[in-house]
This record gives sequence, structure tokens and C-alpha cells, in this order.
Amino acid sequence: MATHAPPPPETTPRPAAPAAEAAPRPRAHIALPAPGTHVVRRPVRPRPTTGRWRRTKDAVMAVILVLFFILPHLPWPRPDGQPQQALLFDFVGGYAYVFPFRFGYEDLLLLMGLLLVSAMGLFFTNTLVGRVWCGFSCPQTVWTDLFRKIEHAVAPKIGRGGARLLWGGISLLTALTILAYFAPARTLWPLIFTGEAAAFTYVLLAAFTLATFFLATLVQDMVCTHFCPWPRFQAVMVDRDTKVVTYQAWRGEPRGPAKRKAALAAQGTAGGDCVDCGLCVKVCPMGIDIREGSQLACIGCGLCADACNQVMAKLGLEEGLIRFSSDREQTALATGRAEPKPRLRARTLGYGAMMLLVMAVIVPVYLDRTGIIVHVVPDQTGGFVRLSDGSIRNIYQLGVQDGRATTGPLLVAVEGVPEARVELVTPGAEASLGNIVPAQAPGARQANLRMMVTVPPGRAAGRVPVRFTFTPEGADAPEAVERGWFVGPGSGR
Ligand code: SF4
Ligand code: SF4
Repeated sequence: MATHAPPPPETTPRPAAPAAEAAPRPRAHIALPAPGTHVVRRPVRPRPTTGRWRRTKDAVMAVILVLFFILPHLPWPRPDGQPQQALLFDFVGGYAYVFPFRFGYEDLLLLMGLLLVSAMGLFFTNTLVGRVWCGFSCPQTVWTDLFRKIEHAVAPKIGRGGARLLWGGISLLTALTILAYFAPARTLWPLIFTGEAAAFTYVLLAAFTLATFFLATLVQDMVCTHFCPWPRFQAVMVDRDTKVVTYQAWRGEPRGPAKRKAALAAQGTAGGDCVDCGLCVKVCPMGIDIREGSQLACIGCGLCADACNQVMAKLGLEEGLIRFSSDREQTALATGRAEPKPRLRARTLGYGAMMLLVMAVIVPVYLDRTGIIVHVVPDQTGGFVRLSDGSIRNIYQLGVQDGRATTGPLLVAVEGVPEARVELVTPGAEASLGNIVPAQAPGARQANLRMMVTVPPGRAAGRVPVRFTFTPEGADAPEAVERGWFVGPGSGR
């Protein structure tokens, strides 16, 4: 306990201690053990703390958890035969249902665009404020944080065994919810609870439950330091203007207990503001000491800043010894200059521009999409057949992926050769369908048909470019068009 009266609050910037001015600013590093050293990992048991960043983390965690557990149970009205679940990734049926939208395999390019936008968004925020994704919203962080909160709340009353039981229950609920994103919850959950679900469902349930339990209770911070590639990527995106959690060494050093500072002050020597209480290390979920400088293991959660602010408040010193700050700001403050204004950098603008560019491409693509994809390929011979009445016939393989919200028959026509007649045939059954691709049953997304195009004698000669049009029944204009060739006498085939 410090026996001296707390000094009056100080302001930033303040004159730096000579020793601190001379000290080089700590750089990012990874501490490696000496060769041959056997390192025993000690589990990180962070002490709870309070403060601005803790409250922010709690708010983000609450939003993520509520959304995660509620979303697959929200109903959404859709046509008969389609799931009435607001959010469902139906791999078996081949569709993703996202509120009013439905995406199929034909939207893979759109999905890639969305992934690209998400990646650019992550890079964009990373250049501004470092790993806030990791510290506040990554599922690994959120679930680990949740489990630790449960432990802190219940372990003193019901012991660690009781906490483990609760962890197991939440892991099971998490696994059930994950499954509900891929199969309709209203039918799947009753099947699971009555023991009527497929064996593979139980295998998945067990796998997700165990994975959640082990990742959030045993593996914890090791996911961030050893498994996840993002820390390595993000390290190269951080620059001198990125605001990351920073210990202001110019202000905190030379560190030492408050008593020693009082003794130094009596000798006319200034000590740093850090009283070396170690609280910033004790609350860190990664078990690191931010005073050693910016580190790959730091997830940017700000909890050390919260803890240190409490210490500073007790000592009557200005808060922010640990804070979100950039290298450029720290260089200026350490030398007594004013804090520079935030700058927009080329890389930040670049990531933002790429994000907008990809969105500018995928939004019109999404609005223009009909949901129908067709492939017309000439049959193996690539030639023509002359029928007994002299007509010329070309045969094609036709593939139709129909991803419309409401499927119905499609009328097929050929433009480019006069009086062309289209006849579709189901391979194997050889049943004639006329020129109509029948409506596909829910779940049957793709039709593979044989298409015969016949023209009367003398109507086609050589190699003629044609357009195959696919028009929904009752529509005025085709929704899909494919280009190809019709070959007749004189084509060399
Ligand atoms: S909490 Fe603040 S005062 Fe205490 S050791 Fe960490 S930086 Fe120093
Ligand atoms: S050093 Fe601070 S910001 Fe980094 S992980 Fe630890 S508590 Fe979070």
C-alpha cells in the first residue's frame, strides 16, 4: 500500500524522464525459447476487470451471442416446398436462404465477391485499429470470454466442477445451433431429441460440442497464437499510423513501486508512471506483458488499458498509460511534440476502394441475375443428321440450373435459322418433352436433357450462328440466352 499522498493529475504530453527519452521504443517481437529448452505452457487465468473496453467487449459479445442463438429460429415466409427459416444453408438442396434472398450454386461468383468484401473490410479496419476483430468479435474470443465469465461467476459458489457442467451445456447448445444453420431447426431438433436423427447427425453434434468445449476451455489463447494465420497476415498490414494497444514507455519508464518513486522524487529524480503492479499482465487473456512492446500475441482487446486506468485513477495520475495509439503518435509524444492528427494512408484508402469496387460489381450482378444458368454443348459428333424427308438435325446436350425463387417451365427456342423446331428428350427415358424444360421439383436443381434442333430442307447451309433462348412460361422476354452454332450441308462436317 502506498503511504505517500497521491500527486495531482498530470496532463499529456508531459516532459519525459531523461532515461525514457533515451530508451528505444519497443518493437514487435516473438520471444523464442533457447534451443533445447522444454517449455511448459501455463494456462492463462486472467483476472476480471472493469472499464470502457470491458463494457464494449460485453456489449459486442451480447449482440453476437443473441444473434447466433436466435437467428436459425426466426421464421421467414417462403413459397411452398422451401424452408420457412430466415437463415439456412441448405447444402443438400443446394441453396442458402438469407431472409428474402436465396442463393444457389449459380451465385458462387457472388459469394466470392462477398468473401472478398469481407476480407477487404477486415484489412481496412486492421490498418486503422489493428486486431479489433480478434479482441472483440472473433468467435474464439467471444466463447472463451463467455466461458471465463461463467467460471468467475459460478466457480466460487458451485466449484469448478459445476462450471465445467455449465460449459458442457453451452457447448452442446452451441453445437445444436450450428446444426440448425444447415438443416431446418424445427424438424432437426425434435429428431435429435427423440433419437430419430441420422447417425451422422449425432457424430457432427458430438464433434461440434467437443470442439467448442476444448477450444474455449483448454486451448483458449493458443488458437490465436498457434493455429490462426490471421496474426501473421495482420502484422504486415499494421503501419506507423495504425492505432494498437500501446504501453507509453516514454511516460511509464523507469517503472517501479510508488514508494521508490517517492524516494526518487525526494532526490530530485523523476520516476515513470508505471508502478509495476503487474495488473495489466494479470487481466490479459493472452497472458502477455504489453509493456514489452507490441506483440503478435496481443489481440487488441484493451483490457490491460482498463486495468491500468484503474491504477492510474487510484494514484491520481492521468489515465491512458496504456491506450490505443499509433507509433507516429508515440514518437511525437515521447519527444514532447504535439500528438499528430490521424492521417488517411494509401493502404487504408486502397482497401476501402477495393471494397467499394467489388461491391460496385456484385450488386448489379445480383440485381441482374435471373437465377437460370444454361449450358448448350453440341453432341460428340458436332455434325448434322439428314433425316429421310431431307430435314437437317443438330443434337446438343442441354444443362439447365434453375435457381429462381419460384420454378416453372421454360420454353426453349432457337433464333438464327428459319423454322427451327426444338425437341427436348430426357436421356435414358427418351421421353419427348417438346420444347419445354419442365418445372423442377424443389431440391432437383439441375436438368440434363438432349436437345434436337431440326430445320426443313434447304433452310440451313454451312455453319450458322444461333441463339438459344429460355423463356419462363407466361413471360414476354427470355431470362437466359446461350449462343452456339447450327451446322448444315457445306459446313465440312
Ligand atoms: S497496470 Fe499500469 S501501472 Fe500497473 S504494471 Fe501495468 S502499466 Fe504499470
Ligand atoms: S496485451 Fe492488452 S490488449 Fe493485448 S491481449 Fe493482453 S490485455 Fe488485450
